Amino acid sequence: MGHPHLRKVARPVLPDEFGSPGLHRLVGDMVDTMRHASGAGLAAPQILDERRVVVVEVKDNPRYPQFLPIELRVLVNPHLEVLVPKESASVSIYEGCLSVPGLRGRVTRPARVRLRAQGLDGAPLDEIWEGVPAAIIQHEVDHLDGVLFVDRAEPDSLSYLEELDEFVSPSERVDVRGLDGDGSSF
Ligand code: ZN
Repeated sequence: MGHPHLRKVARPVLPDEFGSPGLHRLVGDMVDTMRHASGAGLAAPQILDERRVVVVEVKDNPRYPQFLPIELRVLVNPHLEVLVPKESASVSIYEGCLSVPGLRGRVTRPARVRLRAQGLDGAPLDEIWEGVPAAIIQHEVDHLDGVLFVDRAEPDSLSYLEELDEFVSPSERVDVRGLDGDGSSF
């Protein structure tokens, strides 16, 4: 946090970049970085690349033990549309960020979004994401627009990890409301 690159609007990946070694290298670096740091996702600006690319994966994540698994997803030029306002269906998470180490803060986001994006091969996709995955993808797409979770967090919820562990119970750290089921589907 503080690096100007994190505050820029990233540029779209162009048609002739799909299939290129450069794009594959970027995604490989992003996946390595995300896994090495136990992130639930990563956006290209976090490794100082200017392109609109995010990766998401949850697999026995020690930073977010409450999250259910998400298979590795590579999303190029993602675009989100909020389907239900957060007043009706919301997901509140004490979010963290690999670019803001040691800090958490509660962010409440709409619990159902439509994701349109392209895969690494350029193929279009169109999906509904709900619950925790919806919050994760919103956090990552925010990075592409120069927005960090601290911009959206309730100021008096900001907490260092040690204090989070001491004062915020695990059940308070993730709160999904207004969805059918457990809010983990997408
Ligand atoms: Zn982040």
